Amino acid sequence: MAGGSREKTRAAIVVACFVAAISGAILLRRLRKRSRSRSRSPKIGGGSIEEKPQEKFKRVLADNSYSPFKHLKRDDKGSPTELHPYEEEITYLLQNPSVLPDFVSDNGNVPLDMSGSYTWVDTEPQLKSLAGILSGEKVFAVDTEQHSFRSFLGFTALMQISTVKEDFLIDTIALHDVMDILRPVFADPSICKVFHGADNDVIWLQRDFHIYVVNMFDTAKACEILSKPQKSLAYLLEVYCGVITDKTLQREDWRIRPLSMEMIKYARCDAHYLLYIANCLSSELHSKNTSETSSFSGDKLNFFFEASRRSNAVCMQLYAKETEPSPGTSAATSIFSRTFNQKLDLAKVSELKEIIWKLCAWRDLMARIHDESLRYVLSDQSISALAVKLPKVPQQIYGTMTESPSPIVVSHIDELHNLLKNSNLSIDDLFDNILEMRLDPVGCCPLSAYNYALLSQLSSKRGDMFNFSLSGSEKVAQTGSKRASRELFIKKFSCKSPVYHNCRIYASDGRLLCYCDRKKLEWYLQRDLAKMVENDPPAIVLLFEPKGRPDDEDNDFYIQSKRNICVSCGEEKHYIRYRIIPSCYRMHFPEHLKSHRSHDIVLLCVDCHEKAHKAAERYKRKVAEEFGVPLFVQKIVDSGEEKVIASIGLTNNKNSNGGGKGVSPLHLRTAAMALLRHGSSMPSERRDQLMETVKAYYGGREVSEKDLESALLVGMNPNERRRFGKKKGLPLTSDYKSTTLIKNGFPSNIGNGENHSDNGHNNISYSDNHDNNDSSEACEVGVLESDRRLSLLGHGPHGKLVVEQLLEKYGDEGILQFCQKWREIFVEALQPQFLPGGWNIKHSGKRDFGDYSVYNPTKKV
Ligand code: AMP
Ligand code: MN
Ligand code: ZN
Repeated sequence: MAGGSREKTRAAIVVACFVAAISGAILLRRLRKRSRSRSRSPKIGGGSIEEKPQEKFKRVLADNSYSPFKHLKRDDKGSPTELHPYEEEITYLLQNPSVLPDFVSDNGNVPLDMSGSYTWVDTEPQLKSLAGILSGEKVFAVDTEQHSFRSFLGFTALMQISTVKEDFLIDTIALHDVMDILRPVFADPSICKVFHGADNDVIWLQRDFHIYVVNMFDTAKACEILSKPQKSLAYLLEVYCGVITDKTLQREDWRIRPLSMEMIKYARCDAHYLLYIANCLSSELHSKNTSETSSFSGDKLNFFFEASRRSNAVCMQLYAKETEPSPGTSAATSIFSRTFNQKLDLAKVSELKEIIWKLCAWRDLMARIHDESLRYVLSDQSISALAVKLPKVPQQIYGTMTESPSPIVVSHIDELHNLLKNSNLSIDDLFDNILEMRLDPVGCCPLSAYNYALLSQLSSKRGDMFNFSLSGSEKVAQTGSKRASRELFIKKFSCKSPVYHNCRIYASDGRLLCYCDRKKLEWYLQRDLAKMVENDPPAIVLLFEPKGRPDDEDNDFYIQSKRNICVSCGEEKHYIRYRIIPSCYRMHFPEHLKSHRSHDIVLLCVDCHEKAHKAAERYKRKVAEEFGVPLFVQKIVDSGEEKVIASIGLTNNKNSNGGGKGVSPLHLRTAAMALLRHGSSMPSERRDQLMETVKAYYGGREVSEKDLESALLVGMNPNERRRFGKKKGLPLTSDYKSTTLIKNGFPSNIGNGENHSDNGHNNISYSDNHDNNDSSEACEVGVLESDRRLSLLGHGPHGKLVVEQLLEKYGDEGILQFCQKWREIFVEALQPQFLPGGWNIKHSGKRDFGDYSVYNPTKKV
């Protein structure tokens, strides 16, 4: 691109800035148009580029996320991914000097002219037939061209393959998703692949297609061994073939289709003569062997082998994404040192460094999101100019830049502006802002196979995006007894089979549409209706606008299923359902607000479950205080008269059984059960202790055996009483039924739609149980599984009163706010990283109910 035209554009912008003083909006629009129409890549010979052809790729191996590249896993080998998948094969070639590529003897005379036709390969059947042809060859020559300006990592835009008979030009853009058809011939150790300077090609083929080269002869390596004055292909072409090439074509935009005649000729040239040149060089290597080794006695130095060994060493390289401690740091360091070598005072230096780093971080993220090269987004020169001038308005930003602003700069000018203006803005805030933009339905950042993983990482990030939370298995080892208790808990309560399927389907803007099985994914992929954005677990993005698309309300959550992992830390091995809104409140919600429970029931691993539970219990106590409704009800029976005395429920604490505090139903029932069963045989000290607990419930008066029996039922709803009665074989005397607690507003739970039998595994924690073991025998006897479930409902009366207050004061809105608060508590406690898409603190739970829906509030029961 001519620098002059850039200068002109820049001048135009500077002029435009004055105009913009009158109307900034007009300028913005103009700039936007300009950057759209302006060609930032050359077009040659009438060829044209469809806007960003990589957007059509359906499978992308190297995405723009910060996660490391995943290499091919061969099913036949249990090899770990850090190893080269063909390590064994290549090692063999490196160690076996006897292996000499057959072409040395076979293809003595390679035709030198390029007058014959070439084959343009751009369909799958053509590629398959090419694979067939190549599998019958002993040697073929390869070169690739890649495009890197309008892509973050770059992609292979063309592959040239020449056999002795034919030149093939493979459209690796059109065939991007099926290039693995060539994987076997490239990996076949019996077929020699001739390259010139293969270092990049080898890695690009891995990055784009998981193609690994095994058995290679690199003519550049041969030049090295032969100590040629030059080792460029241009030199070899001229010396051996008498062909003069214009290597400037190397930098053409190889995405253009159709390719110009000139580019086709150039591309063919790069592979066509390689077999001939390789032949010449190998003969030289062999003759060097005989001439020079004659002076050696004993071990022969095999020059040909050395060239072949060095070539195959190149094959052993593995592609890896570049990494840096945090985004933009390496670019920032180099920009700073290149630009500011003069002496500056320390304060100025750190200020400059800071802003350059922020600009580089911003550029890095923008380039990844939009799949553009760094230099396309914003040049190094512009970054230093901006850092020095710190322009304060968008128009000045454009004026300060050394190139005409890219569409990315234009469409994100507000962010850039904010970044330059606001020196306190941290990188984290910046990324958060960008993410919000992205999540905004009219946000302009695209979702593609390239940035899908990046955006989902950003979405789940809170705090430090570059230190992702440890997965469950990486957690610190726990101490013996706690671990044993944990294991037991997992065994007992974790879900026995996957709760959800885990293939995901996304809409083109990144909204999660639904979860489904693998079959459904394949169905879309095979019909070209979707592209793969993630492999494990698989996810696709639809290429069409789905009909039943969730709108932007909260409802979309309901058409989804969820992943079978802890929504907090990602643990996959075990998980338990967790209710974000505690049942003691939820069970008292009006029916129409109760219908959305799947949103507020998530899977958590045992550790996260415990954390969440503790936070919830803490918050419950706060609710109790704020509403003036104790967690537990202390009943005082006074000559048949009863009144409820409020006491803040700290009583699930093991130390607060007696005194004036309330008693938790769990402790009460446990104590009563122990006294009924073993009262006569237990040490008197223990008996007195347990008696204190029961007495506390009865207001300190002496308790009878009947009181003990009544105490067994405290905190249960009628259903549970019935079940409990059956199980224990206890009679249901009229006394139990008419317990004053019922009159005092204990909930009737029949028909409220909550299934309490699956409630039990919820908001209990293994260490609660563990910690409470202090009451030894009594506790162990008393805490039967059913009791444990029932203990949950001990907060039932509290929940009921709280919900009643909410409804009375604020109506439905009060309940919704209350739910939001619980979600906040949950998020605050866990900082969950894997919440399903569509999960939302603000989830309103409002939904249109069908006329016949059981949830329809107007429906008469
Ligand atoms: P070659 O190995 O000459 O076929 O080059 C392969 C690819 O490397 C080209 O398509 C370019 O994308 C890239 N490339 C090689 N040399 C340069 C260069 N000097 N400047 C820019 N890109 C280059
Ligand atoms: Mn080339
Ligand atoms: Zn977890």
